[in-house]
Amino acid sequence: MAVVWLDDVRADDLDLVGGKGASLGELTSAGLPVPPGFVVTAGTYRSFIEDSGIDDELFSAVDVDHEDSAALKAAHEAAHELIMETPMPESVREEILDAYGSLGEGDAFVAVRSSATAEDLPDASFAGQQETFLNVTEEALLERVKECWASLFSERAIYYRNRKGFPHDKVDIAVVVQQMVDSEKSGVMFTRHPSTGDEQIIVEAAWGLGEAVVSGTVSPDNYVVSRETGEVETATIADKKMMCIRDEETGETVDREVPNEKRHARVLSDAELDRLVELGELVEDHYETPQDVEWAVYDGEVYMLQSRPITTISGDGEGSAAETTSGSSSGNGDVMLRGLGASPGIASGRARIVTKLDHLDQVGEGDIIVTEMTMPDMVPAMKRAAGIVTDEGGMTSHAAIVSRELGVPAVVGSGDATKTISDGEVITIDGDKGTIREGEEPEEKQRQPVEEARPKTPVKPMTATEVKVNVSIPEAAERAAATGADGVGLLRIEHMVLTLGKTPERYIEQNGERAYVDEIISGVREVAEEFYPRPVRVRTLDAPTDEFRQLEGGENEPREHNPMLGYRGIRRGLDNPNIFRLELDAFRRLFDMGYDNVEVMFPLVNDAEDVLRAKEHMIEAGIDPDKREWGVMIETPAAALGIRELADAGIDFASFGTNDLTQYTLAVDRNNEHVAGLYDELHPAVLKLIGDTIETCREEGVKTSICGQAGSKSKMVQFLVDEGVSSISANIDAVRDVQHEVKRVEQRLILDSVR
Ligand code: PEP
Ligand code: MG
Repeated sequence: MAVVWLDDVRADDLDLVGGKGASLGELTSAGLPVPPGFVVTAGTYRSFIEDSGIDDELFSAVDVDHEDSAALKAAHEAAHELIMETPMPESVREEILDAYGSLGEGDAFVAVRSSATAEDLPDASFAGQQETFLNVTEEALLERVKECWASLFSERAIYYRNRKGFPHDKVDIAVVVQQMVDSEKSGVMFTRHPSTGDEQIIVEAAWGLGEAVVSGTVSPDNYVVSRETGEVETATIADKKMMCIRDEETGETVDREVPNEKRHARVLSDAELDRLVELGELVEDHYETPQDVEWAVYDGEVYMLQSRPITTISGDGEGSAAETTSGSSSGNGDVMLRGLGASPGIASGRARIVTKLDHLDQVGEGDIIVTEMTMPDMVPAMKRAAGIVTDEGGMTSHAAIVSRELGVPAVVGSGDATKTISDGEVITIDGDKGTIREGEEPEEKQRQPVEEARPKTPVKPMTATEVKVNVSIPEAAERAAATGADGVGLLRIEHMVLTLGKTPERYIEQNGERAYVDEIISGVREVAEEFYPRPVRVRTLDAPTDEFRQLEGGENEPREHNPMLGYRGIRRGLDNPNIFRLELDAFRRLFDMGYDNVEVMFPLVNDAEDVLRAKEHMIEAGIDPDKREWGVMIETPAAALGIRELADAGIDFASFGTNDLTQYTLAVDRNNEHVAGLYDELHPAVLKLIGDTIETCREEGVKTSICGQAGSKSKMVQFLVDEGVSSISANIDAVRDVQHEVKRVEQRLILDSVR
């Protein structure tokens, strides 16, 4: 049999129907109202490639060097062509079309989705691109099924499997064909309060298809229903400006304005809410765990489209990771030193004083690195370490950024750690409080960053403001993506370049331009791949000369009194276009490879002239600024005050780099510990620049974001959401708390607007 009906599928039929098919089948068999459909089984794909004899050719075509982008492209094209050109056996065609015929009256619209059998592997990228085709009719159905099969061999999927050494012939693919539900209303439902775990059912609802709610383009109505009494405790009716519907002529999903009479109207009647609550309880009973459900109402019936466990309910009552001061006092002895708690968690271990790079070999698994300041070459040792302590540096220093991304507790800027602590001494550090104590903490009291202990795929609260994550080292991409962030708000490329150990000029001299471009591609691709299709905003190079000076070739760097005010960011790029052009080449090649989720961001611009010149370089590199998302960092008062002109230059987004904006507004060097007490990202002058910039950007249709460290602080989050920022990008460890903080502020804003 080439197909099986969803009614006949069970959760453990994973090998037959893939992850998506199995979960829909399980819901159907539990008696829940799921739109009818069938699955073209994984076995059908397997016999298609084996019986037609294309399997050997297929697997050898994709056996290529994954770092060779031209070979990768050719492999994908060959595999795709082979699958699309090989005829489907007549018996399979008939079976699929017969099943389709039983779904409706001949011209039913169906959704066709790939459902890979390897989906349960730790990394879904093994399973290829998850292809979805909506509004498919009989005419295109068989081609779409084949497209789903071919999606196993996208460039990205081949790259990923080859890189991880996962055999291509171990992945099969099923295809789910399901009747489209032209929902009049739709949304999500949590069968318990997703943050507190309270006995409440939370429903979010909007007009039209679910895409508008799921993608956050509309603020939905919010209903809170008590599970004990069944009473609707609150019904917050939002102003719903937009809706997604299916265009009757083209069959495409399109955005439409909500008609005036429906904009402020309540979406769900009491009867519909009752039915949803009833279904919510059924599905929770079935799975014996709280669920996050996507639903739709069509022709008076409530349908369930998807159900997943709510993984955020942990009952540990954690506070804000970004600013928490809770937790037990750590270490046995007195506090011997204090610094800044730069990466949360408590760790005990033997101190390893690292003053030279060749001391790194002595850092063993579970040791605590104690050093003046970390450098890019130290990252492998930082990964082995249980904790990190530095003499110097603030919350935006290399040590702080990298340890947060690695999930290793860290205390930075302790002043004297390398002199006060002896090599081999056992110490305990508390990366929340910024303390270092003598002695060891009992194992059970040591604590990894809160986020690390959480399940891998948290359900994020629905918010209109997007919550993204900052990434500086590509190795952190997996951890970053597992936060459920809406994308990467800042991917720094400095780390990728500095780890080459040579200045870009020296590296190119010795290895050639192509090798330099490939290094950038490889680092960015790791992150773009992990997040695909979520957007990844990549910034062009912004390393100050003092960081380049430590590298081979660094002797040629200019000597500057204050590198922070010097030759860095876009000013260096524009002054030295030979290197800048190669960064832009790397972006263009990533676009060519299909990474259309990459966005380009320019650092440290002052005015429209900077932006127009950078844009010209982008065009020369073959990047069409009208087709790609691109924008700038707002890091100087000049850029904030001149935002209207920057908008006129064509930017799509402006992202506040508050680490720099604060230092340039207050004249406080961010790396100078003598004035560290004056460094305040929440200073009224900084907030005024930010608030005014957001207002102008809203008028100009430019998206706004923050990617400085302050985006992880709840006070800044409150301010920005109040001001109407489009997105917030936080540290990995803070994403989850920022998501909840944003949700709280948005709910308050909705309530205020109806009072
Ligand atoms: C900033 O200035 O806020 C920023 C994110 O850039 P960096 O810390 O890399 O200067
Ligand atoms: Mg900056």
